[in-house]
Amino acid sequence: MMFCVVTGGAGFIGSHLVDALVARGDRVLVIDDLRAGSRENLAAHLESGAVELCVADLLGDGWQEACRGADLLYHLAADPDVRGSARSPQAVFDNNVTATERVLEAMRTCGIPGLVFTSTSTVYGEATTIPTPENYAPLEPISVYAATKLAGEALISAYCATYGMRAWVFRFANIIGPRSGHGVIKDFIDKLRADPGELEILGDGRQSKSYLDVRACIGAMQCVVNADPGPFAVYNIGSEDWVDVRTIADTVVREMGLEGVAYRFTGGDRGWVGDVPRMLLSVEKLRNLGWQPEIGSAASVSAAVRAMLQSG
Ligand code: NAD
Repeated sequence: MMFCVVTGGAGFIGSHLVDALVARGDRVLVIDDLRAGSRENLAAHLESGAVELCVADLLGDGWQEACRGADLLYHLAADPDVRGSARSPQAVFDNNVTATERVLEAMRTCGIPGLVFTSTSTVYGEATTIPTPENYAPLEPISVYAATKLAGEALISAYCATYGMRAWVFRFANIIGPRSGHGVIKDFIDKLRADPGELEILGDGRQSKSYLDVRACIGAMQCVVNADPGPFAVYNIGSEDWVDVRTIADTVVREMGLEGVAYRFTGGDRGWVGDVPRMLLSVEKLRNLGWQPEIGSAASVSAAVRAMLQSG
């Protein structure tokens, strides 16, 4: 049995990770200030006592000592919103860079040997090689969010080299599924619930990206942590195909049983400043470890839409 700390464990991806860690018998401590996550996402584990929840902001103190003795820390807490990062860059820097440095300091002082970090495909900027491999260069982010994640990766690399830690960095495509509280699918569902006759689609609807079901994503993470000893490993995680935004709109409309919805495109090749219109990651490195993609983008989208509609 391992003792694992999960920052952001009450959020979307974090709570699915916690499900997997509990299922394999680990002791789990979640640190989350619940700004975006919820106790509900962890309800069964809190009730059974399988998970301990420390409600704390990583930018404050009081949580570090609780981590002492951990074997592995999964650092997922972050502000995950690309679009919002243009509106409040300082807040996103604090939450994604300063908080990551504070996590690394806590690991150093408490002697925690291993870190898993959730980075993003957006660190590649507008890559000219598609599918984009991990060794693609130059890394030129086009959003503040992406820049903060790349800064986090750089800090982690330095801490591994300086203090002898191990780290696994995952650059995610769009991860979707039940409990997701942000992203294009939620945006479309919310808009169509408010007005079933019309759907505003940001951009021209042709933005094409890779989407992956959250449970497949967690499986890929665990595969890498088990198979690659590090000390500093970087892996893409995503589907091997992409879907465009218009297809996602069609899927949401169909699953909601709507007809005659008028699409209103805001125009332009991207949805917002900092949006990368074409994203597909190479998962060759992951495949070389024996990982097999179980589900593609379109099936991930359909499953996520159904799950998100069911949960209200
Ligand atoms: P989420 O917002 O559901 O989860 C983030 C969690 O972190 C929330 O529960 C929130 O309350 C918590 N949190 C945020 N700041 C905190 C702080 N200062 N102190 C304590 N808790 C804090 O987002 P998610 O989609 O589950 O994303 C999880 C991670 O994966 C993030 O690091 C995100 O950048 C990364 N990521 C997500 C995607 C995706 O498609 N969802 C893609 C690439 C990378």
